[in-house]
Amino acid sequence: MSQTRILVTGGAGFIGSHYVRTLLGALGPDDVTVTVLDAFTYAANLANLAPVAHSDRYRLVVGDICDRELVDGLMAEHDQVVHFAAESHVDRSLASAAEFVRSNVLGTQTLLDAALHQGIDRFVHISTDEVYGSIPAGSCSEEQPLHPNSPYAASKASSDLIALSYHRSHGLDVCVTRCSNNYGYHQYPEKIIPLFVTRLLAGRKVPLYGDGLNVRDWLHVDDHIRAVELVRTRGRAGEVYNIGGGTELDNRGLTELLLEACGADWESVEYVTDRKGHDRRYSVDWRKAHIELGYKPHVDFAEGLAETVAWYRDNSEVWGRATRPGQATGTAPC
Ligand code: NAD
Repeated sequence: MSQTRILVTGGAGFIGSHYVRTLLGALGPDDVTVTVLDAFTYAANLANLAPVAHSDRYRLVVGDICDRELVDGLMAEHDQVVHFAAESHVDRSLASAAEFVRSNVLGTQTLLDAALHQGIDRFVHISTDEVYGSIPAGSCSEEQPLHPNSPYAASKASSDLIALSYHRSHGLDVCVTRCSNNYGYHQYPEKIIPLFVTRLLAGRKVPLYGDGLNVRDWLHVDDHIRAVELVRTRGRAGEVYNIGGGTELDNRGLTELLLEACGADWESVEYVTDRKGHDRRYSVDWRKAHIELGYKPHVDFAEGLAETVAWYRDNSEVWGRATRPGQATGTAPC
């Protein structure tokens, strides 16, 4: 059987590792091999890949997507790319944007250029609903003009447009996905769900931004990965696909659920100064992915959240230690 050789960037992070575990797991296709390319920033964790480490269809390369020579060599050995690697936390981009521009913009362009020159036959670029900016009501279709507000969102919007330009100018087979907020296990504890859960389970207080009424649509990482796989295998070249989860909640409502799940109450919540430029609400219209690819979210939010909380409760040895190959382990700051 001929194998499709897939290069997965950022495969040691939250969503990328979920994708790799799914592809190489019992229910994944048996006609793919996977190479993870990851620089092992603070967000990566070697333990995220432990379940596939012994697969003969898996290989790990520790390296930077901005390293043109490395990337060129890898592209020559692969058929397809699924590109998750990025600096991914808005707050960090407010503190310092340089690494966001380097990894998210230059890194993506470096990959695209190498993909073009080495004849890659499909490049899936993973983006975010944040590129559309805040929307008070309704949902953004893929045609909505981009209006990113944070340096993170601006770096992702830049990389989306560069990715699409490689299709329009050069004919590279590119698809872009724009998903809403992912939740699930194996996520570094800095974004609201894993941060709040790990702190509450440890009996600590959690910081709620502003009035707590910012609204996000929650997407279970399993549903996201299913959509990415549909796009990789059936998406149309040059197209953008929104991927939503269908559970819209403001942060106060989410906090209430997390407090309940962790056996805590509002005494554990500290209202803190709002994030600069904090987008009020994101919402994507994902009918295109549904109509063209048959995508729809399957995971019930209450069940997905309960499973996530249980995982953090039972796996502190995994998330509590940021590990990278060949290095001493350190305790994550939470
Ligand atoms: P993450 O921060 O958990 O993982 C990112 C991974 O990329 C890490 O393993 C890191 O080491 C790697 N990486 C970063 N810079 C690199 C570089 N220069 N070279 C090689 N590897 C590098 O992120 P995530 O939450 O898994 O997000 C994956 C993708 O999905 C990102 O592109 C992000 O923008 C997008 N996204 C995430 C969410 C979400 O809710 N987490 C929502 C929308 C979109």
